[in-house]
Amino acid sequence: MLSVRRVVHYVPRRYMAVVTGSNPQVTQPLNYIGGKRVDPVHSPDTFNLTSPATGEVLRPVGNTGSTDVDEAVLAAQDAFKTWSKISGFERGAILKKAANIIRERAEEMARTEVLDTGKPIWEARYDIEGCTDTIDYYGGLAAKIAGEYQQLANGSFAYTIKEPLGVVGGIGAWNYPFQMAAWKSSPALAAGNTMIFKPSPLTPLTAVMLAEIYSEAGLPHGCFNVIQGEGETGQLLSNHTGVSKMTFTGSVQTGSKIMEACAKQIHHVTLELGGKSPCIIFDDSDLDSAVTGAMLANFLNQGQVCSNGTRVFVQDSVMKPFLEKLVERTKAMKIGDPNDEDTTVGATISPEQASKTLQYIDIAQTEGAHILYGGKRVTPSASLAGGYYIQPCILTNCQDNMRVVKEEVFGSVMSVLSFSSEEEVIARANDTEFGLAGGVFTNNLQRAHRVASSLEAGSLYVNTYNVYPVGVPFGGYKKSGIGRENGPDTLDYYTQIKSVYVEMGPVEAPF
Ligand code: NAD
Repeated sequence: MLSVRRVVHYVPRRYMAVVTGSNPQVTQPLNYIGGKRVDPVHSPDTFNLTSPATGEVLRPVGNTGSTDVDEAVLAAQDAFKTWSKISGFERGAILKKAANIIRERAEEMARTEVLDTGKPIWEARYDIEGCTDTIDYYGGLAAKIAGEYQQLANGSFAYTIKEPLGVVGGIGAWNYPFQMAAWKSSPALAAGNTMIFKPSPLTPLTAVMLAEIYSEAGLPHGCFNVIQGEGETGQLLSNHTGVSKMTFTGSVQTGSKIMEACAKQIHHVTLELGGKSPCIIFDDSDLDSAVTGAMLANFLNQGQVCSNGTRVFVQDSVMKPFLEKLVERTKAMKIGDPNDEDTTVGATISPEQASKTLQYIDIAQTEGAHILYGGKRVTPSASLAGGYYIQPCILTNCQDNMRVVKEEVFGSVMSVLSFSSEEEVIARANDTEFGLAGGVFTNNLQRAHRVASSLEAGSLYVNTYNVYPVGVPFGGYKKSGIGRENGPDTLDYYTQIKSVYVEMGPVEAPF
């Protein structure tokens, strides 16, 4: 469960180096191919790695070109020959060992994630801890991947084998960089696949740390490779004939291109895409919990969360007290240095994302919405003047057809909408091309389940929001995606079934 830890407001001396550009992760080569950190041999151009907290350019990073992508694919294909043949138990033991190493290095990893993303340190710690659980979980499930036996006539029988797919290409977004590397690699590796992972160019650091940790835990060289780059590197990977499956997290637009590349080659694909989820608050709910839920559904990670419930539907009769409590609680959030223990709002990932968020707030006002609170850029201190810090924003007087209500903002912008009946709110909540998540706050047991079953989304929260227990599948309906991450079902997306028929008698034939 999420818990905001408020401890002392300082960065321990031993972590000073990892919170800044002097973090050793920044200066090392950032590709990881065949068990080694390497710089790309062929790099068509570079992009800058920037600290969102300060705006400081940390280093240039080379885009990985085709020669190096080929090399990564060859390394992964070679490693697949042995990795796919060892027992699930042995594979699981390596994943579990990796989880233990991450536990030991958790603070260093969390600080590096903050440097990459600008998210508050307590959130980064929570992310790393959750990923450790995921890797441990699939380590435990690896030995249980098994087919089935079926009795046929006269002693004949058939059995199925769940086989890995081959080399899996993974591409991630920037909002949960380590989580994406861990959520994709651990089930893929548990099932006997090998992987090439491309993080977002905005957040390249922690995926390489994961690669090193896997190696330290005993993962054979070439089983998990990391290549850095922008869209073109992603295209080289998703169009590569040596890759058997793509697993992608990012926007609908890019997801569609990746699906097209996979369609050309009949490759498997998992897509975790955007959302515009509803969070419904009935007048019979516990209002304090509902306010907390709405805040969790909108203001974590500077609002840059795919499953966010950004359309907050509040039943008419409780609108006034709900908004009073919401504004009071939101005002108390502390915008500040992401490395400070008491910061609850850190930096937006990039100037582009910040300006997109501010533009949506402007458009919303033009379309008739009111800013009840927030929505302004602020500078918490002189040293953070180069970062983009935006107050969480609450919009009222919203209508279903406004752009801010229909489109994914991916910033801390909550649109509050009023409703009167259950039937009405279900129809309005489902009137979207997305279907990632949804929330319902009510103390009426039957209503809770009725609404949960009526909403068209992959993850439904009753009286909570934005929790991701490792054993529960996560993924979207409609344009929010295909496939699942987390939970046992995810292994099905990284395996293919072979059926073996065995005849125990003479072969019968009509000729
Ligand atoms: P994006 O689609 O711009 O980029 C995602 C990744 O795709 C990056 O690594 C990028 O370099 C790469 N890429 C870009 N063009 C490509 C191409 N043509 N071929 C292959 N790869 C390409 O998304 P973003 O801005 O990084 O992330 C924000 C989006 O991600 C939001 O829409 C958000 O909802 C979504 N998201 C979804 C989930 C989920 O689990 N459903 C989780 C987090 C984020």
